[in-house]
Amino acid sequence: MRFDLISIFPKYFDALGLSLMGKAVDSGHVDIGIHDLRDWTTDRHRTVDDTPYGGGAGMVMRADVWGRAIDAVLRAEGRRVLAIPTPSGRVLTQQRVRSLIDADQIVFACGRYEGIDARVAEHYGQTDIEVFEYSIGDYVLNGGEAAALVLVEAVARLRDGFMSNPESLVEESFEGNVLEYPAYTRPPVWESLRVPEVLTGGNHAEIAIWRRQRALERTARRRPDLIPTIEPGTLSTLDREVLAAHGWVAGADSKWKRVTIRPARIDEAAALSELAATTFPDACPPEVGPEAQAEHIAQNLNERAVRQWIESDNHRVLVADIEGSLMAYTMIVLYADGEYPDDVPEKHIAPAPTYVSKCYTSADYRGSGLSGAIFEAALVDAVPHSHGTQFVLGTNRANRRARDFYRRHGFKKSGRRVFWVGDVRNEDVVMIRPISEIANA
Ligand code: SAM
Repeated sequence: MRFDLISIFPKYFDALGLSLMGKAVDSGHVDIGIHDLRDWTTDRHRTVDDTPYGGGAGMVMRADVWGRAIDAVLRAEGRRVLAIPTPSGRVLTQQRVRSLIDADQIVFACGRYEGIDARVAEHYGQTDIEVFEYSIGDYVLNGGEAAALVLVEAVARLRDGFMSNPESLVEESFEGNVLEYPAYTRPPVWESLRVPEVLTGGNHAEIAIWRRQRALERTARRRPDLIPTIEPGTLSTLDREVLAAHGWVAGADSKWKRVTIRPARIDEAAALSELAATTFPDACPPEVGPEAQAEHIAQNLNERAVRQWIESDNHRVLVADIEGSLMAYTMIVLYADGEYPDDVPEKHIAPAPTYVSKCYTSADYRGSGLSGAIFEAALVDAVPHSHGTQFVLGTNRANRRARDFYRRHGFKKSGRRVFWVGDVRNEDVVMIRPISEIANA
């Protein structure tokens, strides 16, 4: 690949002789030509600029001088790109950089003053030369040289043979439109800040999960503009849960939406009862017929019952609000000292459990990470209100998906219980998780 840089300050590009770029030039991986624009002037003063037509401050660089310079350095064939740094160009992204890696030649026209006569970009845009106008950010520099250095380096380092360790390109920021995870090295403690324990534990699978989670969290916090550009299909369940916990969810239509997970309000009792009624049948085993389901819904999930949960001090109800609609909810019962749920045999659990009674998600958001996010949020929310030492829940024995879900969220089987829907007897698995795991996390 050949880079030709044209500027009135060619010495600016001495930096290209340094570091990896210098090595790439020496080894022939990249070929660089540096040119003084003034070599193509025709007057005694080597003039490159003139006053703007229409008036206004500053000077504009002349199209005729630039035209001669560009024509002189352009090669006869191959994929040729004319790169023009300008604050009014589209902002450079890793994707746009990547689009240039198989160019044969990139010629940089580095403007100064008020920039280059607009006809230069227009003229070359009418030929088979690709014109690539770009900005390196929403601020103004004195000239295009720094922006040219930026693009040369960003493109060159993606070319085969440039990096001694090409692996380092794979996990970098912006690959997959996600920022990179935070990095640490020795010493393990500095200014009383300790390196996260998982990184020193040697468990590579755990490290990979931790890094991916931090990368997604960082992206959601610092660069929320990148989230809508992520293809939801490329994300794992865990990835989706992290993003949902940070306010982003893509449902059945694969469109990213903002989600807020928060305590339910009293005025939402009707909407929540409706969500509870539509989602309850999803978790019912096949032997519970429509009549038994309807009876259970009418008795236990009506608006009055839901209002009581929201109002009560020993219940915690969280909802996932997506653009004003409730799409998931959790309900936790906080048993007091010496109390046990009626339907869980005492021998399987410790007293005063924090009982996860309900965790339901609308079918549109199944697999979106919303269930995991609201479930974890519900556990965290319940900790300061809990009286005992265990989270407890019961889930149908035949519902493998639910059991796998709870297991992924740290729950372990502790026994069985019987759960009645109408007059249908169901066998549930009782699962528990120590509250300390959340409290100390
Ligand atoms: N009058 C121009 C405007 O407001 O858009 C600013 C010209 S600037 C002072 C001079 C040159 O610096 C530009 O022609 C361009 O080559 C370069 N430049 C300045 N800011 C830049 C940025 N954010 N990205 C890329 N190039 C920039």
